[in-house]
Amino acid sequence: MSVKVTVWNECRHEQEDEEVKRVYPETIGGCLMDGLAPYGFDLTLRTLDDDEQGLPRSLLDETHVLIWWGHRYHGELADERIDYIQQRVLQGMGLVVLHSGHHAKIFKRLMGTSCNLAWREADQGERERLWVIQPSHPIAEGIPPYIELPQSEMYGEPFDIPEPDELVFTSWYQGGEVLRSGCCFKRGRGRIFYFGPGHETFPIYRDANILRVIANGINYVNQAHGDGWSLDNWGRPEPAEPGAPRQTRFKRPRKPGGVKPE
Ligand code: ZN
Repeated sequence: MSVKVTVWNECRHEQEDEEVKRVYPETIGGCLMDGLAPYGFDLTLRTLDDDEQGLPRSLLDETHVLIWWGHRYHGELADERIDYIQQRVLQGMGLVVLHSGHHAKIFKRLMGTSCNLAWREADQGERERLWVIQPSHPIAEGIPPYIELPQSEMYGEPFDIPEPDELVFTSWYQGGEVLRSGCCFKRGRGRIFYFGPGHETFPIYRDANILRVIANGINYVNQAHGDGWSLDNWGRPEPAEPGAPRQTRFKRPRKPGGVKPE
């Protein structure tokens, strides 16, 4: 079964800004759809202006991996929707957050920090060199020791995120700054990959290595947990071991339910 990937893109810059329209006439989401197609994913494209902001529960329920590109309109996302996406991640849905998605509500929620970083948007951009610092990691498969982007926006440290569970890339910029630009996190039963490159006025999502990293990231965060259990607060009056001490007194009447992995 191929991985069901929902590519979510704000998709407003491409309508509002001539420069972005010129770089991505098919939109950023459209470019990602084309670039990821050869990898055999089952891809769905949704945008902020679609019904239910492009993220109805029915779609999220069957999404294995959600890709997120947003920038200027993070605040429009309804908090209840973020609650639901967070639950889906905690149950095992993979999440790939790109570039300015570092300030997306869902990313900040899952990190628990401001996710602020340093930034500079030079007129013609500046050189970025992404170093693979964990060559054995699945996300680095097929990637050379470094990827060089001739035009990029500087995103630099300090990047206010928790210590990543795995750090795959560190970027260097022409201006001298550095960034932890490829970071993996685990939350509940889900995995998250943050990947820094992707400013809207440079054709970064046409770079074959960048697309390969995103495709590897999709495969890495995809776990397709189909068993449906999450890390609830699991009352276990009956011990796992027969004959071991059990709980018989309850402060409140015991409700049926809770998590019962088979
Ligand atoms: Zn940017």
